[in-house]
Amino acid sequence: MSEKTLNPFEICQSQIKDAVEALGLEPAVYEILKQPLRFFQVSIPVVMDDGSVRVFTGFRSQHNDAIGPTKGGLRFHPDVYPDEVRALSMWMTFKCAVLGLPFGGAKGAVICNPKELSERELERLSRGYIQEISQIVGPEKDIPAPDVYTNPQIMAWMVDEFSKYRDYNAFGLITGKPIILGGSAGRNEATGRGCVVVVAEAARRLGMDIKGARVVVQGFGNAGSVAGKLIHDLGAKVIAVNDSRGAAYSPQGLDPVAVLEHKQKTGSVKGFPGSEDISNEDLLQLDCEILIPAALENQLTAAIAPGVKAKIIGEAANGPTTPEADQILFEKGCVVIPDILASAGGVTVSYFEWVQNLMNYYWTEEEVNVKLEQMMKRSFNNIFDMHQAKKVPLRKAAYMVAVQRVAEAMKVRGWLNGCRQ
Ligand code: NAD
Repeated sequence: MSEKTLNPFEICQSQIKDAVEALGLEPAVYEILKQPLRFFQVSIPVVMDDGSVRVFTGFRSQHNDAIGPTKGGLRFHPDVYPDEVRALSMWMTFKCAVLGLPFGGAKGAVICNPKELSERELERLSRGYIQEISQIVGPEKDIPAPDVYTNPQIMAWMVDEFSKYRDYNAFGLITGKPIILGGSAGRNEATGRGCVVVVAEAARRLGMDIKGARVVVQGFGNAGSVAGKLIHDLGAKVIAVNDSRGAAYSPQGLDPVAVLEHKQKTGSVKGFPGSEDISNEDLLQLDCEILIPAALENQLTAAIAPGVKAKIIGEAANGPTTPEADQILFEKGCVVIPDILASAGGVTVSYFEWVQNLMNYYWTEEEVNVKLEQMMKRSFNNIFDMHQAKKVPLRKAAYMVAVQRVAEAMKVRGWLNGCRQ
């Protein structure tokens, strides 16, 4: 596969194949896992503020539900395409399995640019999307959550709309909701927090002091800004961050909270007082100890990887490293904590949110953070031990653990004998 035609769906298939072969599992495991069990495409007519009707295209991919109901975020993005959604749903299956969560994987998306929509248009689109997929989602079936360019407000509109069809408050439908609608304390920060927990754990296992370590964060959105703040709180020095419009670089270190305030005021981290704007390529190759990619897929490519200086890469984003880049980074001795582990904090607290909704009993933020930290540390050390024992990259170790669990569930359910028909 050439780097030019990188397709996250094909990348994910090769990751699964690799793990199935390394584990010596029967070929049927790969045949079932190499694509989603179900993939839906919907058309969503929306009345725009000027009275015209625009039809948006949306998707929901349900990859595998052997372990439990499917779970995965919703992305609103102008460039999102079906194979990307398929891949993201597949990664969710393995992310849940790595953490030992009782979920399978799913992902949804709508092709749109939320920055060009008014709030009322965004609300009508969000309600329209959930209306179109209302038959295939639900607290016991498939549970969406926020992802790129979606947020708790969008989740609130969707749960409100869905509750109308069910005739009760179905708060367990969706996670990442506002607290007042059954959201969990700590959910907004969970992806960034989980990433920092495993990065700190990696530093500990490698004998690296996190205090004073230089950190670069690509993509200063939800996951990236929280990761930047929390790693700064641990004493690390965040020297550069960026977003789709530009970067803020300062070798002396940035205050992530002040950078976020600047972004909230101006729409970008670019232009933060005392910082320099640098290109995305330069940012990824800065001299630093820790790199946190928290934007989109295929950012660390074979062209970029040779110049990467970081010792630890914590993949807060889904799929930020291409397979060729992965190999280059492994040979350089760079420790890449894979997305299915490093970005699993969000789905872990989503799991806590769903459990709290089903119980109708709510935990404090401290309780949530303690449970999250325990689960992330346990999963990281499990994977790190396998990486050391088998001398395989962390990504391969994580896939081996995850694929083994899903295969075991499929086996005991009889799916490998053709009983899923
Ligand atoms: P977000 O929309 O809050 O932030 C994304 C950020 O990336 C924005 O600041 C955007 O400007 C920036 N960005 C986009 N393209 C960029 C580019 N080419 N270069 C630099 N920056 C760029 O989204 P998020 O929820 O923080 O998600 C970020 C990543 O983390 C995605 O890969 C997502 O799938 C993954 N993730 C998110 C969650 C979650 O709970 N939010 C959970 C797991 C994984």
